[in-house]
Amino acid sequence: MTDLNAKTLKATIMHAPDLGQVEIIANGLIAIDPQGVIQSVIAPDHPDYQESLQTARDNKSLVETEAHHYVLPGFVDLHIHAPQWPQLGKALDVPLEVWLQTHTFPLEARYADTEFARRIYGNLVSSLLAHGTTTAVYFATIHQEATRILAETCLQNGQRALIGKVAMDNPDQCPDFYRDADTEAALDGTRTFIDHVLSMPGNGDRLVRPVVTPRFIPSCTDVALAGLGEIAAEHQCHIQTHCSESDWQHGYVLDRTGRTDTFALNDFGLLGRQTVLAHANFLTDPDMDLIAEKGAGVAHCPLSNFYFSNAVFPLRRALEKSLRVGLGTDISGGPSASMFDSARYAISASRGLEEGVDPAKPADERGIAQSRIDFRQAFHLATAGGADVLDLPVGQFSKGYQFDAILVDTEAPTAPILVEEDSDSLDDVLQKIVNSATRANIATTWVNGKAIRA
Ligand SMILES: [Zn+2]
Repeated sequence: MTDLNAKTLKATIMHAPDLGQVEIIANGLIAIDPQGVIQSVIAPDHPDYQESLQTARDNKSLVETEAHHYVLPGFVDLHIHAPQWPQLGKALDVPLEVWLQTHTFPLEARYADTEFARRIYGNLVSSLLAHGTTTAVYFATIHQEATRILAETCLQNGQRALIGKVAMDNPDQCPDFYRDADTEAALDGTRTFIDHVLSMPGNGDRLVRPVVTPRFIPSCTDVALAGLGEIAAEHQCHIQTHCSESDWQHGYVLDRTGRTDTFALNDFGLLGRQTVLAHANFLTDPDMDLIAEKGAGVAHCPLSNFYFSNAVFPLRRALEKSLRVGLGTDISGGPSASMFDSARYAISASRGLEEGVDPAKPADERGIAQSRIDFRQAFHLATAGGADVLDLPVGQFSKGYQFDAILVDTEAPTAPILVEEDSDSLDDVLQKIVNSATRANIATTWVNGKAIRA
């Protein structure tokens, strides 16, 4: 392979457009136009296959991959705190309130320094692309300039991104050193950032999009929450926030508003088709029904939940109620930037929920039956599921979708994945990739058909 900017790609492709099923095409041909839009995907048994292959060879537009290469959709990470990148892997041994007040808020406050922001965000975005995250949904900080730097960094590096200036104006819950000056500052700052992103030079096709971002109900006043709901409606943009994450947070909202997060957010105009609810562990049945009715999505963050959420998200129950769900790393509440890890932790969390964890209890009282997911469902959630939450045409290889993808090399010298050709089916290979691949196996990441070397 020389020119990796894909035109016609011949590869073994693996994707999961529908929950629970995977589609694998050995030696498939994907034709991609100059804008990165997939024109066709054809398998070797298609009547046009030989002619398409020959045409691509003749006009030198064919990119051929090797036998140990597999092309998967790029990952959609629905929940990342960009400013927390330097804290990845740290401060996981303290409770949430200590984590926030002693570690996280002081770190986020440092982004008043634009040079710091430029250095950290540059490192973050290139690292996430190397991990195969082609679409990233980011909380930034309260700062206008630093949040613009994040947007510009994503655009320059070619990462599809949804980014929010964090709104947090409640003096009862936010420290003096890290808070919007007042409610108007939270609302004006949100409007100004939205306008900036939509008019950023080079962002005509909206690779980077603004997101209305109340950190969570505790950190915002009622006036700010209602104002943010109006701004989102006015600009028709995405909304992200934390929802019923932990015992403390869920209980705080019940005490303050008399409602669950879901119902309170709905009353503030913050629950709709473009809303991404992070965590959502403590959703009640009526919450789930309302989320399904409104078409909002959930960012399931299984690793972070183990550290800070007091419970495991009832994923299968949510899927059975037709909630739209994708996965999030929740950097740095979750100490891994890898969406392969997110998929694996989603599987193990679901197994823990099903089997239970207390060996002192009898087996039939230990867990919640039928809670597990498998690698097919996890792979879907990390790709097409997240894309569906955002209503973006990515996450699968279908005509009309953008070609956002990763090239997985099972023979990467530092991270070989053993494939036994006589005994491993392609389904087995995908299962091995989902369960064991790392950043070292990602040889190339494409966004909009453009190759970004990992
Ligand atoms: Zn979070």
